[in-house]
Amino acid sequence: MRYEAPESLDQALALLAGAPGETRILAGGTDLLVQMRADVVDPDLIVDIKKIKETRTVTQESGGWRIGAAVTGAELKEHAQLKKIWPGVVEAANLIGSTQVQGRATLGGNLCNGSPAADSVPALIAAGALATIAGPRGRRDLPVEDVLLGPRKLALTKGEMIVSFLLPPRPPRSSDAYLRFIPRTEMDIAVVGAGVSLTLDAAGTITAARVSLGAVAPRVLLVAEAAAAIVGSRLDRPAQDRLEAAARAACNPIDDKRGTVEFRVQVAGVLARRAALIALDRARTQ
Ligand SMILES: Cc1cc2nc3c(=O)[nH]c(=O)nc-3n(C[C@H](O)[C@H](O)[C@H](O)COP(=O)(O)OP(=O)(O)OC[C@H]3O[C@@H](n4cnc5c(N)ncnc54)[C@H](O)[C@@H]3O)c2cc1C
Repeated sequence: MRYEAPESLDQALALLAGAPGETRILAGGTDLLVQMRADVVDPDLIVDIKKIKETRTVTQESGGWRIGAAVTGAELKEHAQLKKIWPGVVEAANLIGSTQVQGRATLGGNLCNGSPAADSVPALIAAGALATIAGPRGRRDLPVEDVLLGPRKLALTKGEMIVSFLLPPRPPRSSDAYLRFIPRTEMDIAVVGAGVSLTLDAAGTITAARVSLGAVAPRVLLVAEAAAAIVGSRLDRPAQDRLEAAARAACNPIDDKRGTVEFRVQVAGVLARRAALIALDRARTQ
């Protein structure tokens, strides 16, 4: 096995494009190294992207925020401005694993591991984040909801990698929240995850919203009907009921020992409602 740690994106892309056999990008390694030790994957080439500055920085861009794909959850938590504007994205990244795991785990790795239960993905989708992808044919931007196509199935083609995520500009009175259900207090895979981002007008009416659900379908869902159910409302009880119903209607979950279909569908509605209420509360003070 060959290990390379290029210091520029061009070098990384040349390595990814030119290598025969199986190639894997290494970010935090909290999924990849576990899978290698379990003999699930056996790469011929590992390209460590952590020395590439573009993947490791958080910068303001066109009124929004660009987060490098190899920025860790712990680093996001230390970023006071980002945490204030996108608390849901930051809290989702910091639900991943333990303190030690959060010091390694990245947004890019969480998305590209290809799990519909990945915690940061519903938060990024609710945020309206774009993934900036680089590859042999240049750069392209894809909405995060279009990157993960199914379990372990990504819209990336050979030689492509995610360089960063772009979070859009935030109007006043906007905020977000992410909640998940796990059978214990931490260190577990989401049975259901829900991300909500919303904007209020001066009277407290929701003018825009995005709702995303994880672990209830083969891919993380952007549930437009759930967002439509609360836009124009002040999230009063009837709007909450509509949100719950729309979230539940979107679910198509698996049935396993961690949650039955009925349980996941029920919890998806509850978490979507609770995440929306938290986002609403936060938006009032933004
Ligand atoms: C103890 C433990 C607890 C965990 N708990 C949680 C949890 O609560 N919630 C949760 O969601 N996950 C959890 N995970 C899984 C894991 O920590 C996360 O998915 C994490 O975000 C992966 O990021 P990473 O940087 O470590 O990825 P890596 O392991 O480096 O990479 C993961 C995959 O993505 C690919 N990849 C990485 N970066 C890129 C990129 N920029 N472009 C293209 N492909 C890329 C890699 O080739 C690899 O296939 C846990 C893992 C462990 C070991």
